[in-house]
Amino acid sequence: MTKELKNYIAGRWVTSSKTFEKRSPFNGDLVATVHEATAEMVDKAVTKGREVSIGSQANQWGDLPMKQRLAVIYDFADNLIARVDDLIEADMADTGRSYWQASKFDGARAARLFRGYADAAISLENRSTQFAGELGFKGMWYTNRRPKGVIACICPWNVPLLMAAMKVAPALVMGNAAILKPSEETPSSATVLAEVIAASDIPDGAFSLVHGFGVDSAGAFLTAHPQVDAITFTGESGTGASIMKVAAKGLRDVSLELGGKNAALVFEDARMDAVAEGMTRSAFFNCGQICFCTERAYVHRSRFDEYVKRMANIANGIVIGQRDHDGFNIPPLVSHSHRDKVKALLDTVPEHGGEFVAGGGIPTFDDERENGAFIQPSIAIGSPEDAPFVKQELFGPVLHVAPFDDEEEAIALANDTQYGLGACIWTENHSRALRVAPKLRVGHTWVNSWQIRDLLSPLTGAGSSGIGEQGGRHSLEFSSLPQTVTMRIFESDA
Ligand code: NAD
Repeated sequence: MTKELKNYIAGRWVTSSKTFEKRSPFNGDLVATVHEATAEMVDKAVTKGREVSIGSQANQWGDLPMKQRLAVIYDFADNLIARVDDLIEADMADTGRSYWQASKFDGARAARLFRGYADAAISLENRSTQFAGELGFKGMWYTNRRPKGVIACICPWNVPLLMAAMKVAPALVMGNAAILKPSEETPSSATVLAEVIAASDIPDGAFSLVHGFGVDSAGAFLTAHPQVDAITFTGESGTGASIMKVAAKGLRDVSLELGGKNAALVFEDARMDAVAEGMTRSAFFNCGQICFCTERAYVHRSRFDEYVKRMANIANGIVIGQRDHDGFNIPPLVSHSHRDKVKALLDTVPEHGGEFVAGGGIPTFDDERENGAFIQPSIAIGSPEDAPFVKQELFGPVLHVAPFDDEEEAIALANDTQYGLGACIWTENHSRALRVAPKLRVGHTWVNSWQIRDLLSPLTGAGSSGIGEQGGRHSLEFSSLPQTVTMRIFESDA
């Protein structure tokens, strides 16, 4: 029987007369029928969220002493970790990933993040100091971090539960109401999350789940709602810009984690074995659908041919779409419409003078995968730097490779993009790594690796890659208001 995924609003599971189908990108099978939230449902979630975070019922959540609230979160987090098999199954169904990948990257890691944020909140300081004011008065001020109210958490599909956890966890820890709008492509693991919250001591309304799309649907209803106090969004840069416009009405806070066109610089002294291992992951992991994936590789001319040959061999041998494969393998793209977009850009490569040394097309199968959204891991050389393939984010398993002659040119090539999310530097020369890293206009640079990442470290992007910082303390700060109270200290008693 097909699963029915409902909205979870103010403590109740809510159906809708409007539904949509979630189909598997692996074989086109129906995964679930999803109930799309209406504007009235979103309004109910927001109204109840306001009550329990900063309104008349804040004694149940927003006003709870931090330790009491964290005890509820720790308890819930343990129950979420206990459901890890269901989270993995949900992720595999929505994205077509293998067990190997789903178990490594999303479910358990996301579940553990709730504990991580609770731990980080304990050490978040409230500041205080004594001072002498302008008129000779003495005083003391202290800050107290209070919930902002209702936080809209709008998520993409690429690492669905992890993205949700990165937004919902800090919001709840700081006493807000979190309203989660997962991507229409990945509604399943968010529903498991809601089930665990429904069974926990987190009060009704502190978390709601609304399913649907962006424009004219749950995403737009939520971001436009005047009682949403802050919006944390991860997705495409264009969508982020639209959301920012909507948030300007009422001057609501935004945190935007957006697209990228990440570069890797391979210098002449790089260890090619490490490069090959790291760049196989950075270009092709999750079929290139990680925001930090490398889509442009600039390689010192003296190692260019060696690099291209080695990476092309690897790309041509990558296991595609075997759900039982217990090693590096790649799933399909998330949907046929996303594949159409990636394929259309691949098709522009020859007309701009580039050539594929690996992939460039759609693989064929003689089984159910023929109905999936698969694409070949692809490497192209010879494309000019202003070609659409080099400029636009593809969010697929694609790599543009070009040579450089010196450090200065390498830095200029890496920075020649509107984006500024991530970069990799491959070199044995640590002075060079320390010299080059700060010159790359990105939020996160890896040296001799990719995605070794503490999820509580700052996540930010330059240019079209985002606004604000997420991760650890930064997300806790975004999710709270540091209220200052100043008290006068009299010189003596009256
Ligand atoms: P998307 O922008 O199409 O959608 C993201 C979410 O926004 C979805 O839930 C969608 O329904 C919703 N949405 C769309 N239009 C909306 C609107 N007008 N108002 C409100 N909500 C709206 O992005 P996607 O295709 O789901 O995700 C892929 C993108 O996400 C890529 O660009 C990728 O680089 C980016 N991404 C960035 C990071 C990061 O940390 N910087 C991480 C992961 C993904």
